Amino acid sequence: MKGQGGGVTSVLGVGIEGATIAVAPVDREGGQLAPALVATCRTADQAAFLAGLQTALRRSLAQFAEHRPGALGVTWPGTVDAGRSVVIATPNLPVADAPLRARLEKALGLPVVLENHADAAVRAEATVGAAAGLQHVVLIALGTGVGGGLWLNGRAYRGANGGAGELGHIIVRAGGLPCLCGSHGCLEVYASGRALVRYAAARAGDPGVDTSGELAVLQEKGKLTGAAVGRLALAGDKAAVDAVHELSRWLGAGLVSITNSFDPEMVVVGGGLGDLGELLLAPARDMVRKLAMPPGRDKVRVESAMLGERAGMIGGALTAWQELGETRRRAGSEG
Ligand SMILES: [Zn+2]
Repeated sequence: MKGQGGGVTSVLGVGIEGATIAVAPVDREGGQLAPALVATCRTADQAAFLAGLQTALRRSLAQFAEHRPGALGVTWPGTVDAGRSVVIATPNLPVADAPLRARLEKALGLPVVLENHADAAVRAEATVGAAAGLQHVVLIALGTGVGGGLWLNGRAYRGANGGAGELGHIIVRAGGLPCLCGSHGCLEVYASGRALVRYAAARAGDPGVDTSGELAVLQEKGKLTGAAVGRLALAGDKAAVDAVHELSRWLGAGLVSITNSFDPEMVVVGGGLGDLGELLLAPARDMVRKLAMPPGRDKVRVESAMLGERAGMIGGALTAWQELGETRRRAGSEG
């Protein structure tokens, strides 16, 4: 990355989720220095989305000028190449094969780094969030789909090609239901928001289970969403709690494989469903204690994420800070 870390007092963290772009200045330690500026850019056209993003970033640079931002860390909700320069694919946005880093650096005149959303989120949680200071952390994000991020030996682990951490596509049921990735029986099919809706729908109106009838009411109104089922479960509705627990057991199966594979100090569970807290985590944690191998099964902590929607923004900024530092060190050793 060009540019110097010297006189820089902040980096702009840019979190992109769906059509929402959130930007805030972040200091070297991961502290957010001002409330985020939030913009939305809803379009099915790549050029229009990128133009909207550029406008939002220009506005942010002006708004946060007093914090003297020296770089931007952009967290992308899709696959980014190993050099963190090119967006390869994006599930929910019309952007693919785009050399975004070069384009934004040219337009904004500042160094830019791209980071995958889950990779940024795990860095943020392991720096200033639920796993602050830990060296071996796995993030699993339960939303519409299931994402994952790996923080191993105190640094992001991306694999040989930048594709590591696709924990949503661990197979938990051989020959199971088809997944959007083309495989069958993936954790994502059994532990995502979409799965929660399926478990709730199977219970809605069943007199032995849906005793309050609340799930049936949601279904009739066409409002049976993961978020709505979650709210009912948190309010104590028995059938909704049941549906969450079905999901939680599948999550537990995934966590057993994760614990056996990585022996992490902590698994941080985030994404929209992460807000369900112990209702979601306790049954999954029990499965890990019973089925994973020692010593991980007795040692690993399974906790809710702390940073919520801010994780992408803060993690992106921390990635950019790290690159600025590396660039300075390289410049120092060469000069
Ligand atoms: Zn899959």
